[in-house]
Amino acid sequence: MFTTPYVLRALKALSIRAANDPIDPLLRGWEWHHPPIKPRAYLGLSVSDIASKYCPVRMDLWLRRKEGFKPRVSMEMNHGLIVHKMIDYIYRGVAREILDGKEPFETIESLKDPPESVAGDERLRQLYELLLISIVGTVMAESLLNGGIIPPPIITEYRVDGSRLGLSTGLRVDAISHGVIVEFKTGSPRDFHRLSLAGYALALESYYEIPVDYGLLVYIRLPDNGRPYIHYKPIYIDSSLRKWFLMERDEIIDMLLNDEKPQRPASCPANCPYREVCWK
Ligand code: SF4
Repeated sequence: MFTTPYVLRALKALSIRAANDPIDPLLRGWEWHHPPIKPRAYLGLSVSDIASKYCPVRMDLWLRRKEGFKPRVSMEMNHGLIVHKMIDYIYRGVAREILDGKEPFETIESLKDPPESVAGDERLRQLYELLLISIVGTVMAESLLNGGIIPPPIITEYRVDGSRLGLSTGLRVDAISHGVIVEFKTGSPRDFHRLSLAGYALALESYYEIPVDYGLLVYIRLPDNGRPYIHYKPIYIDSSLRKWFLMERDEIIDMLLNDEKPQRPASCPANCPYREVCWK
């Protein structure tokens, strides 16, 4: 369903921007052997370490990496985790059933019971059903066009080695479809969400030496009243976004290498999972 003509059209519109603003060849991941892609140190950072700028001074990262604190898992974080696992479960399940020779309706029947973590929550259960039907619906539409039933053209929880960029060897991209990076989000949109697309694009380019120019931020909303809904944000992973990611990476490396503990800001988000540590 994340490959519907609507979404693909939106991404295609970005290609016009790409033609007018091509990516600086020195900002491709395969240029990992020299700056600015080459890191100052290889600390095995995750993309989320760099891209999740929820803490304005990056104290969260300091506490995790230098002081060994684990964040308090909030309801929203847990929710996000369940939704990510649910999407992976559905896509893998649909692919498995289709490859086993099941018809789309049989696939829906086999997968109609959601995993335990979802079944007890009405909104998650509703999301599960809508996603399952939409994903199998895409398979059916494809079969009408192509004459054969094939699994959805998407790989979820895709692993890539980002070590050439100073990132972890086991990065995990939410999904890749048609060469487009897909990131699922359950919180409110934030501009820095684009950074994770740049991080994964650079890592994929460093590893496979093929260009990755586009990403999709998929916001999954579960209102208290009403049906779940999804909105998309297609992103061109341009030179300035790449530079922004590399700058954030380098600042974090400097902070960690120079032992520069950040100062707590005057105010912090009320839902920060480190609040109890920083404000005790
Ligand atoms: S409480 Fe404030 S300083 Fe501490 S991690 Fe959260 S946002 Fe950062």
